[in-house]
Amino acid sequence: MGKVAATLQKNITTAATLIRNSNQGVVLTGAGISTPSGIPDFRSAGSGLWNRFDPHEVATLSVFRYQPEKFFAWMRSLALDILQALPNPAHLALAQMEKSGQLTTVITQNIDGLHTRAGSKNVLEVHGSLQTLTCIGCYQQYDSSGFIEPYLEFGEIPRCPECHDTLKPDVVLYEEQLPARTWLKARHSVTNCDLMLVTGSSLEVMPVAGLPMQAVERGARLILINDSPTYVDERADVILRGNVAEILPLIAAKVIDG
Ligand SMILES: [Zn+2]
Repeated sequence: MGKVAATLQKNITTAATLIRNSNQGVVLTGAGISTPSGIPDFRSAGSGLWNRFDPHEVATLSVFRYQPEKFFAWMRSLALDILQALPNPAHLALAQMEKSGQLTTVITQNIDGLHTRAGSKNVLEVHGSLQTLTCIGCYQQYDSSGFIEPYLEFGEIPRCPECHDTLKPDVVLYEEQLPARTWLKARHSVTNCDLMLVTGSSLEVMPVAGLPMQAVERGARLILINDSPTYVDERADVILRGNVAEILPLIAAKVIDG
């Protein structure tokens, strides 16, 4: 504890108190919570493959439909990073606070499944997940295991065993709508929350980026744990800058043990 600067220590205490005093605490997470697990944020510069292709130009529904080989070639390194990744202390801290009844829901923009693997139960993956694939021809859904290995190893495009059309990972691409049921649940949880904790998201991708403001307008308290400024900084009760994998466990310890 001695190493943690005084301001940060004070903010950790404030955040923990806000969480303890809340009845419906909802978390919103983005890429920044998974970077300590080795999954690059594709908006941050300097991460190899991510620089060669602009995700806005490759991770789109049109590219998937008309140039699936281009899409799958782009997706391969991300899928590999995700498959090798393990939950980090930030994911685990959120799962602990859910288990102890201090947080109710995790809404995540991430497709890596790490919140669930860390033990969080009520996870809303509003940008989908890599765990399943759906055939674009017959709409049959499959578990990714069994398809992911030949794809990662040989670049084999996953095909439907029934109709042989292309299988699409159940992730939300640019030009695509969010999964309706999950998104409505997320909106509902935000409508009812009295505390929102945003972590690892620069709040740039709509419509998810709008959720914290909706919470604040309804009177919820707001905690931000981020590297970079966001458009809701002025409305936050407390802002913590630094490594989420260090900060969140310190908050969780204070929330749970007092
Ligand atoms: Zn099919």
